[in-house]
Amino acid sequence: MEHLSTSRSLRLRAVIHGAVQGVGFRPFVYRLADELSLAGWVSNTAQGVVLEVEGAREALAAFRARLEAEAPPHAVVQHLEASWLDAAGYVGFEIRHSDAAGAKTALVLPDLATCAACRRELFDPADRRYRYPFINCTHCGPRYSIIRALPYDRPNTTMRGFPMCPACRAEYDDPRDRRFHAQPNACPACGPRVEWWDASGAVLAARDDAARAAAAAIRDGLIVAVKGVGGFHLLADARDDDAVRRLRARKGREAKPFALMAPSLDAARELCEVSADEARLLCASAAPMVLLRSRLDGVSPSSISPAIAPGNPYLGVMLPYTPLHHLLLAELGFAVVATSGNRSDEPICTDEREALIRLHGIADAFLVHDRPIARHVDDSIARVILGREQVLRRARGYAPLPAPLPGATRPLLAVGAHLKGAVAIAVDGQAMISQHLGDLETEEAHRAFREAAAGLGRLYDARPEAVICDRHPDYRSTRYADSLGLPVLRVQHHYAHVRACMAEHGLDGPVLGVAWDGAGYGDDGTIWGGEFLLADGEGYTRAAHLRPFRLPGGDAAAREPRRSALGVLYALFGDALFTMDLPLRAAFSTGEWQGMATMLARGVNAPLTTSAGRLFDAAAALAGLRQYARFEGQAAMELEFCLTEDAAAYPFALAGPVVDWAPTIRALLADAGAPAGVVSARFHHALAAMIVAVARAVGVARVALTGGCFQNRYLTERSVDALRAAGFRPYWHQRVPPNDGGIALGQLAAAAMLE
Ligand code: ZN
Ligand code: ZN
Ligand code: FE
Repeated sequence: MEHLSTSRSLRLRAVIHGAVQGVGFRPFVYRLADELSLAGWVSNTAQGVVLEVEGAREALAAFRARLEAEAPPHAVVQHLEASWLDAAGYVGFEIRHSDAAGAKTALVLPDLATCAACRRELFDPADRRYRYPFINCTHCGPRYSIIRALPYDRPNTTMRGFPMCPACRAEYDDPRDRRFHAQPNACPACGPRVEWWDASGAVLAARDDAARAAAAAIRDGLIVAVKGVGGFHLLADARDDDAVRRLRARKGREAKPFALMAPSLDAARELCEVSADEARLLCASAAPMVLLRSRLDGVSPSSISPAIAPGNPYLGVMLPYTPLHHLLLAELGFAVVATSGNRSDEPICTDEREALIRLHGIADAFLVHDRPIARHVDDSIARVILGREQVLRRARGYAPLPAPLPGATRPLLAVGAHLKGAVAIAVDGQAMISQHLGDLETEEAHRAFREAAAGLGRLYDARPEAVICDRHPDYRSTRYADSLGLPVLRVQHHYAHVRACMAEHGLDGPVLGVAWDGAGYGDDGTIWGGEFLLADGEGYTRAAHLRPFRLPGGDAAAREPRRSALGVLYALFGDALFTMDLPLRAAFSTGEWQGMATMLARGVNAPLTTSAGRLFDAAAALAGLRQYARFEGQAAMELEFCLTEDAAAYPFALAGPVVDWAPTIRALLADAGAPAGVVSARFHHALAAMIVAVARAVGVARVALTGGCFQNRYLTERSVDALRAAGFRPYWHQRVPPNDGGIALGQLAAAAMLE
């Protein structure tokens, strides 16, 4: 194994946008680094202020906390993205000369949450924008969701239809004003306005009366569609069990958790445990929905409906991020459900006329406005794991900020996979990553995907010279790539996962990539999903994989854990399975049971898979937790959430490149009667031990954990701990999701490496 530095040295990289140039920010960073004995550099670049500091973990944590808290008085941090990387071996700290490279690429900022100064004015009766729902300034407000073309000037935004009044124009033209060149600048005299519509689109109220009427309707238990920054939300009183259940029924959303919008950080703390890092994430200008551990045990049952996140110990919470949200939530004073305004599996609605039709029968009334939305942008989802931020859905507040991709010299387009769609283009050594586009299951989603794929290149004036897609021939994204008439590069799904994680950390290899997910097209034509890929500067080899098993019914297994369980047992027992007396038998009718037996015996409609996600499903089904899932991953989530105590790992076997879970499943079956929480612990620990065992066999120090299975917090934490204890250096995702939302970046990274 290659030598690993034993020092606890780490590197923190931060990219900061905002009014941080020319206000003493770089000297401030220098002094702070010096005081904390950190090495590194800070530089002004076309992408904003970029800094890297390295040193002891504790000093870096202090630096991170003080970077925003103690910034110079006139510095305004609009947006900050931080990543934790391996130390680079810097000596001393320097202010680097401004970097001219990359200056050609214009930066499109994401939509930024309302800043503190605008918030104060919003609630100041003496201010001319008192209670004006579109107040913004150069430090905050919509960006990506209103930009139609570059350069970012008002005529190129959806604000072009709102000529500024003299007062707004004076602010816009005054370099000393907070609204100097604030493209969405507006006021009640000249800017967009809100209206309150009934379900047929009849106008019932306008302006402030509209906002107050909407708040009153939510208080009365109605479901209100609210046009936000990147699309519609459906809002309902989170305390009102009846309203929440009505919303579930109308939306056709049976089990997936609903997001909450809490009126304040203090209100969020009443619902959830909030660490200092989590508080910073909630209050950041990206204002993502943050997954927080619920404190529901500790609060009165009436504070929130149990139907919001059934069986889930986490709540997705965000704070108000537009002036309109601030007005509504200040009026209400309690948390509301804030779920995306769509029918299940369709993209979020962005246009009020379209919303009337698509949300017909779901929303009781509509709070709309006349500022058009140029592209739909969902709420982002993030969490703090292992002391670092991790983005699980990259959309509002993050898109389309780039990730550095030094090897990318010519424009390339990557179209991602099929689920959790996102596209990306490489321009001048940067990967511009689109917002989350949803699963490409419906015609609506596919249309949104095509618009985003074409629109991203247009926005940056980049004509892709090649397109990169998945190797799966039937993905809509693959067929789209083939239709463009460009050279097409097909990148294996799990290799793209691994490259995404490597790109985030600036790694070239060799890296052992542990890519575990539900399904991806394998190089041998079978369904992969439990992969150990050894990646380096040349490409990859499949170092190991989970033992394959058959999935009776193929894709149907994603929603029926009982099928995965049956496939796993068939691998153990063969045809004898069908004469055995098993509890799983009760999950099938007699006809189904015979059908399964035929499919498995003949290998018809029972494809082979190495999927770790389906192995999780099998374990959940065999532990008696769930035979049918309302959404992919539900059973695995329940298995994770029921885990109660530390318990010894189930055994497994390593046979050459095959990680054999047969001993694991046999032990799990023998454990019948043990509480599910114990079964879950033993199963999770076995999987972490498998990762360490393969890492030992391969003998590469760096191990990247990637793929949808690593949305599982416990699996990620346990694997990282076990790898570290065994002397390995684990990596996990921070800025792009471990799930298929990260695939487009990985595809670009794989292609850029070949350039
Ligand atoms: Zn502002
Ligand atoms: Zn005005
Ligand atoms: Fe995947």
